Amino acid sequence: MTILTPTSNTGAANAGLPDEALLNRMASEFFALVPGAAQAAAQFLPGFSEAGSAPVASVSAPGRLSSVSESGNHSGSNAGAALTQPSTQPSIYASAIPQNGGSSVAPSRPQAGGAPLSTPAASTTPYYFIGADNGYPVADGNLDGLAAQGTGRQADQTLARSFGLPGQDQLQQLLGELYPANTQAAPAAGADADARPAYYFQQGEQDYWDTAPRAANPALAAPFDINAVRRDFPILAERVNGKQLVWFDNAATTQKPQSVIDRLSYFYEHENSNIHRAAHELAARATDAYEGARSKVAKFLGAASVDEIIFVRGATEAINLVANTFGKKFIGAVDEIIVSQLEHHANIVPWQQLAAEKGAVIRVIPVDDSGQIILDEYRKLLNSKTRLVAVTQVSNALGTITPVQEIIALAHSAGARVLIDGAQAVSHLRVNVQALDADFYVFSGHKVFGPTGIGVVYGKKALLDQLPPWQGGGNMIADVTFERTQYQPAPARFEAGTGNIADAVGLGAAIDYVERLGLENIALYEHALLEYATHGLKSIPGVRLIGTAHEKASVASFVLEGYQTEEVGKALNEEGIAVRSGHHCAQPILRRFGVEATVRPSFAFYNTCEEIDRLLAVVRRLANQKRN
Ligand code: PMP
Repeated sequence: MTILTPTSNTGAANAGLPDEALLNRMASEFFALVPGAAQAAAQFLPGFSEAGSAPVASVSAPGRLSSVSESGNHSGSNAGAALTQPSTQPSIYASAIPQNGGSSVAPSRPQAGGAPLSTPAASTTPYYFIGADNGYPVADGNLDGLAAQGTGRQADQTLARSFGLPGQDQLQQLLGELYPANTQAAPAAGADADARPAYYFQQGEQDYWDTAPRAANPALAAPFDINAVRRDFPILAERVNGKQLVWFDNAATTQKPQSVIDRLSYFYEHENSNIHRAAHELAARATDAYEGARSKVAKFLGAASVDEIIFVRGATEAINLVANTFGKKFIGAVDEIIVSQLEHHANIVPWQQLAAEKGAVIRVIPVDDSGQIILDEYRKLLNSKTRLVAVTQVSNALGTITPVQEIIALAHSAGARVLIDGAQAVSHLRVNVQALDADFYVFSGHKVFGPTGIGVVYGKKALLDQLPPWQGGGNMIADVTFERTQYQPAPARFEAGTGNIADAVGLGAAIDYVERLGLENIALYEHALLEYATHGLKSIPGVRLIGTAHEKASVASFVLEGYQTEEVGKALNEEGIAVRSGHHCAQPILRRFGVEATVRPSFAFYNTCEEIDRLLAVVRRLANQKRN
């Protein structure tokens, strides 16, 4: 086995087409800057109106859109959306974070004797978002009802409306029409064209994260009722060391809404059975629930078919499955596997094991000083021997959002397949595997508000059909004699034995929850949290942020001069604040930045600026203690 490590760490190259998020942002900047762009945008943005009161997409952060009126006044609401209005304080603060009266006992919750599960129409549901179509057991094995692949969400599941983003083609057309010579924004008449660059990525050496935190702007409202959301997560009322828990370890695992907890209970109370084999009522219920969850995952990822969704234990098992099936069949001696320097150990070790067995070569894409993949270096690594590119969509250690669309397109043009590790992405970003053209996409349920012990491999059906099984046993066979075995087609071929039925069903409930909030809303809100935290941390002497890419999601890794990361983690824990300190199972990328460990607060949509203030106060106190 040969491992070629990166030799160049310099020069953030950004060649090739920008990804869809980038294009959305470029268009958004246009609309904010260019008179008349609104009329043009009206052609492309569904629901877009030229009226001054109508929302015009504007840039709030990389990859995120907030609404702003054409006059430039921010408005916390999006027309027609069920959004909260800004109050005098940033509504990103929870005005009434659930308190627990000093007790460590979780607050009692309405249970209603098993409702809402046995009564899906659930008007009595304790969850603010659950309506008539709360999605409890649905054996919707086909995807006919799937809304446009761009959203992967049915309109009737949406309370908070998405922003109706144009597609990449539409944006390029729009850019071309407005500025035929090139796609750089011309200075807007009357606008102070020199005051800021046309696009954030044209800022050169200027650090994007130097900009003032938008969360300090009272106009930036959470696009959902943050207090109601927090009440959906009973554990957030826990007290730790006498303080209300602050859960900033979301990159390690996320907390579970009551609807997921109840769904698991309901399964065991009313549906528990093994699936597929038995011909009785509970087997039918369990099978419906399990296959209904598969259908939800397929919609969530924008897959073409439920047959492309394989349930596994988590992202780690998912990658091992691909290594042991696709890898064993299609990767041989001197073939090459490309990973990035950002990878979690789960997306390194299985490839090393495969490479050791097969005599294959692992090549590593370097990152620049901000922690972003250098596409030019990646281009140089691709060649006719490349069989697989396996990269993360969001780095768990740094938070970098990688340009997976370009990575996949480049790999395909070199004839290679691509696995995207979506473990850190699916809870923060809208994913559409068909739009990405990913060959494999993997994630873990527990990082997207679902149970532990359940995860997903998405694989293109035509590809899965070519793969051998990984494990043998029950469920995955069509016929067995002592001489030979015929296997089931995908996905059953890859699900030997009794799977984690209940937790798959729980994952379905978690997806329902996330879809109700809307990933676009989640992304918008979380990015504001990240900006707020980043700005706060940067203002503390002795703090060094690790990972400052323009495109980031929900992770603010840092080290504090004069302190071990465990000391910072311990001081935070004493105040009830849970962060991960350590190497985050991503040692190569931390070493790229000259550290062995970081403190890693990581955010979810139920976190608030008030909680970030509590973290900042501890870090500031530690920093001051060292200096005095
Ligand atoms: N990839 C990434 C990017 C991750 O963050 C993680 C979990 N930290 C994994 C893979 C592995 O996930 P799991 O432990 O749930 O299998």
